[in-house]
Amino acid sequence: MALRHGKAASQRGKYDPVTERFSPRSRKVRILATLGPASDSPEMIARLFRAGADAFRVNMSHGEHARHAQVIASIRGLEKQFGRPTTILVDLQGPKLRVGKFAAGSVTIEEGARFVLDRDDAPGDASRVQLPHREIFDALEPETRLLLDDGKLVLRVLAVAPDRIETVVEVGGTLSDRKGLNVPDVVLPVAALTDKDRKDLAFALDQGVDWIAMSFVQRPEDVAEGRRLVGGKAALLAKIEKPAAIRRLEEIIELSDGVMVARGDLGVELPPQNVPPIQKQIVATARRLGRPVVVATQMLESMITSPSPTRAEVSDVATAVYDGADAIMLSAETAAGAWPVEAVRMMDDIATAVESDTGYGARLHFTETLPDATTADALSAAAAGIIQTISADAIICFTASGSTARRISRERPSVPLLVLTPKLKTARRAGLLWGAHAVSTRDIGSFEEMIAKGKRMALRHGIGQAGSKLIMMAGVPFGTPGSTNVLHVATLTGDELKGFHE
Ligand code: PEP
Repeated sequence: MALRHGKAASQRGKYDPVTERFSPRSRKVRILATLGPASDSPEMIARLFRAGADAFRVNMSHGEHARHAQVIASIRGLEKQFGRPTTILVDLQGPKLRVGKFAAGSVTIEEGARFVLDRDDAPGDASRVQLPHREIFDALEPETRLLLDDGKLVLRVLAVAPDRIETVVEVGGTLSDRKGLNVPDVVLPVAALTDKDRKDLAFALDQGVDWIAMSFVQRPEDVAEGRRLVGGKAALLAKIEKPAAIRRLEEIIELSDGVMVARGDLGVELPPQNVPPIQKQIVATARRLGRPVVVATQMLESMITSPSPTRAEVSDVATAVYDGADAIMLSAETAAGAWPVEAVRMMDDIATAVESDTGYGARLHFTETLPDATTADALSAAAAGIIQTISADAIICFTASGSTARRISRERPSVPLLVLTPKLKTARRAGLLWGAHAVSTRDIGSFEEMIAKGKRMALRHGIGQAGSKLIMMAGVPFGTPGSTNVLHVATLTGDELKGFHE
């Protein structure tokens, strides 16, 4: 029987050791696991996948291209082994500002002392250090706050000259080589993508990855620049981690294929208590605009060193699921922690518990997603209503570009969503979409074929029994992207079920 919101079930996809294949997971929220030294061997990637990871993040802030290429090949290797498309997100480092180096490797600067950032590449000391980003010098004004090392140290600008920034230390501490600098109160005149990002992007596109994440997006123009460079070869995800991006959130989300609530840097640039309301704002806006949204960072942070999370972390993951995020992300927990598989399993267990709560459906629909005035949106919204009226058991969506799948997913349907697409690329990208189980399969050429294939694929993927009603959505003429205009309800008969099992 198909799973509806509120019905308890073991939702970790059933694994058949004979065929080495998974039935579709009935968990709706997706799990995105960051790979790193603790998890990037082929064996560990397969273990994370079995434990519940739906998509993998390759972080370009660390590592070499040759290693990343091996990791990407290992992820793709899962497709043969498990018969499911894989989803790879490459996260570009972005224009992260860093100070230069110190003669002694680090210094301690005291509260109330003067400290200078300049353009001299000589090693620094307790009175000065290089800031190797010339464009910053013109953008700062007296009184601007500068945060160092994830906000542990705070400087306030006293005076700015073309080659030196004089500051007073408001919060002191130890500062070591190449630590990060955040300037939360200013829109910085820096390019959206650095030279390193451009090289990493070319590499990632050459590797055929599915999603590119842009870091430190400040303006819609940054995303437009990213789109131009990506050229449609991958989907583009904007990481929201700057106050400037929140001020122009809707415009940025409209230009993106998806967004991430990047709470790490967001919590440096803003007081931490501002992050939860902003998380809710970003999730609600992304859902309203029909873009997948990932909630990221420190979700199960204590599991970097401990096999079990804190109650507060469990609650944090649960909140993101109740809010209707498309995906929840693990960072250092899987990349560098001691318990990567356990962290994925824990996330899976939390999400399963939330989605089995009888109150989940009501909370999930707290965010209203009004359809746009398009045929595809109208049909997707109608499909969500039909599920309730006739107790349908699944939605089966035939799509080339994946846009219909995105529209249906945005309705957060209570039954399984099977996405059938002739494009492997589309199936892979769908791995970040709430509730979507994508299958790459041959295209259909007629209405009869649509019904027959829809039923066959539903049964093959463990959906339906005699009398089950399947909602099918497709576009006529078949094979023409962007033409979704058919909504059909098919009923599985006992004979069809028998025929399938014979
Ligand atoms: C974040 O800041 O929350 C984030 C996801 O970005 P990164 O891990 O690249 O710093």
